[in-house]
Amino acid sequence: MRYIKFSCLIILFFSIYSCSTKINKNADDGIIKLSFIQINDVYEIQPLEMGHAGGMARVATQKKLSLKENPNTFLVMAGDFLSPSIYNSLKVNGVRVRGRQMVEAMNVAGTDLAMFGNHEFDINENELQSRINESKFDWISSNTFHNVNNSSEPFYKIENGSKIPFPETRIINISDADGTTAKIGFIAVTLPFNKASYVVYTDPLEAAIKAYNTIKDSCDIVVAITHQAMPDDVILAERLPQLAIIMGGHEHDMRHQKVGNVWITKAHANAISVFKNDIVINKKNKNFTTTTSLIYMNDSVALDSAASVVVKKWEDISNKNFASLGFDAKKIVINNGETLDGKEAHVRSQSTNLTRLVVKSMEAACPEADVAIVNSGSIRVDDELHPPISQYDILRTMPFGGAIVEVDMEGSLLSKILSIGLTNIGTGGFLQYSEKLTHNEGKWFISGKPIEDSKIYRVALTDFLLTGGESNLELLTDKNPSIKKVYPLATEISNPRSDIRLAIIKYASK
Ligand SMILES: [Zn+2]
Repeated sequence: MRYIKFSCLIILFFSIYSCSTKINKNADDGIIKLSFIQINDVYEIQPLEMGHAGGMARVATQKKLSLKENPNTFLVMAGDFLSPSIYNSLKVNGVRVRGRQMVEAMNVAGTDLAMFGNHEFDINENELQSRINESKFDWISSNTFHNVNNSSEPFYKIENGSKIPFPETRIINISDADGTTAKIGFIAVTLPFNKASYVVYTDPLEAAIKAYNTIKDSCDIVVAITHQAMPDDVILAERLPQLAIIMGGHEHDMRHQKVGNVWITKAHANAISVFKNDIVINKKNKNFTTTTSLIYMNDSVALDSAASVVVKKWEDISNKNFASLGFDAKKIVINNGETLDGKEAHVRSQSTNLTRLVVKSMEAACPEADVAIVNSGSIRVDDELHPPISQYDILRTMPFGGAIVEVDMEGSLLSKILSIGLTNIGTGGFLQYSEKLTHNEGKWFISGKPIEDSKIYRVALTDFLLTGGESNLELLTDKNPSIKKVYPLATEISNPRSDIRLAIIKYASK
């Protein structure tokens, strides 16, 4: 008994002793580490590729794993997450979803900081404000502002009834177990791409330099979060060579490049991968080192249970909605074969195997039509589709859907809209059309025969094209005297003309 008590005392003594020596030995070693989990361009909350790739529930797990390693871990979103999405066409209780599913998923995944990508301004001002107010994370914006009656004001979040403006720069204080502290500065710039009337931009490079100079002397390091084209990030790294890192977005395919001492990182879209960027700051010599690693969000990363609940909730909402439109989201359409190219840069400037599939599906759904025409802007996936390709993949590829309409039109109008389609290169008004259509020196041919101005042709179009809403194609409406007949629309979901996506699924399943 006595012996036990004594040994306890000894243990107690030694543990106090060793504990105090530990504190003394490690007190403020001048070294502090922080980690960023970086995501960018995420439009899908659930995993893709039959559940094996991406998903916000895997991002949530990665954040938790990194937090265990280092409490100074931050999950950062480098823009593009509220649109485009198949969810944006859905309504819940009469209100369009417009990115709400993504904000909920980002909240539960533990997002710390977000910035605008160009796609955040696809939704309207009120919808964006609602999404911002729903977000539980912080925002930053160095060059993108709210146009309020032609005056430039910061965007803001309404939290507990008060307006919290988005800062142009942020500084956060971090500390570690041995008492080392550091100030981390942030700047964030967005490319001035989406000209929504309620947004104003200043020049991204100038704004970044200005923001950097404002905080550089008050911070141990400055981190840039950007949403712009890679060449602009390279210039930014050249102009601000002391940046600790540039975490960017916009490209969708992974980017990893070092310019001078500055790493530029962009993960794959849809959280197929994340970057884990570790920065070690040495306060004694005012130095830092940045280490970047790409982590694939594949089956080796578990799905976080809390995030999965949110994802499942939205999946159920969307599946119910899809079922009412005749879709079985999980069903496989294309089991194997080539990767389909839906990258926006390609789809809006040339034909790809995906655009050819869309046009062929329209032709199959409308066997009496002479030709089929689709606006490339109806393809919104901006990604490659790897088989197996599910009905959900087809839905997210063409989130707007819409019926296929058939019209009789004069050859003069047909030639005209096809020529306008060519000049619309780079925009959603760039037209994809039947392979039997060719052109030479401004003249159009069907299977080698010239299109005659006064001859009537039966043309299959997306219903959106016939609204005249596509750029430079305002003339394409049923009011145009060159349109002689509009065939009755198919509305029953058993008819593939009722929705272009049903037409694709039917054609591709064969
Ligand atoms: Zn973008």
